[in-house]
Amino acid sequence: MKKEGMVCVTCGKTAKTAKLRFQGAEIDGWRCSCGEEYFDPEQAQRILLFNKILTKEYKIKLGQIRSNLIVRIPTELSEVLGLHKGEKVLLRADGEKKLHIETA
Ligand SMILES: [Zn+2]
Repeated sequence: MKKEGMVCVTCGKTAKTAKLRFQGAEIDGWRCSCGEEYFDPEQAQRILLFNKILTKEYKIKLGQIRSNLIVRIPTELSEVLGLHKGEKVLLRADGEKKLHIETA
């Protein structure tokens, strides 16, 4: 947490650091005694992006290097999930038409 207190724009008092509910998640922020809440902008942004990818499906084309097929992970997904080149993920068949990829 960067700031201990934050001046409330509604009442002018100092809002104190608190754990706040935001879109189904708990994030850091500030709560004022007047009831006003201020969310940590970076954490709030991350939750918004995360909720966005949960509702999306990505149609991607398989690539190939030698005999191996390549699955390309869209940038939007890798950024939100924090995936990087060289990282290991767990891949397994999940039925005849399903692949399951699990991140560490
Ligand atoms: Zn206030």
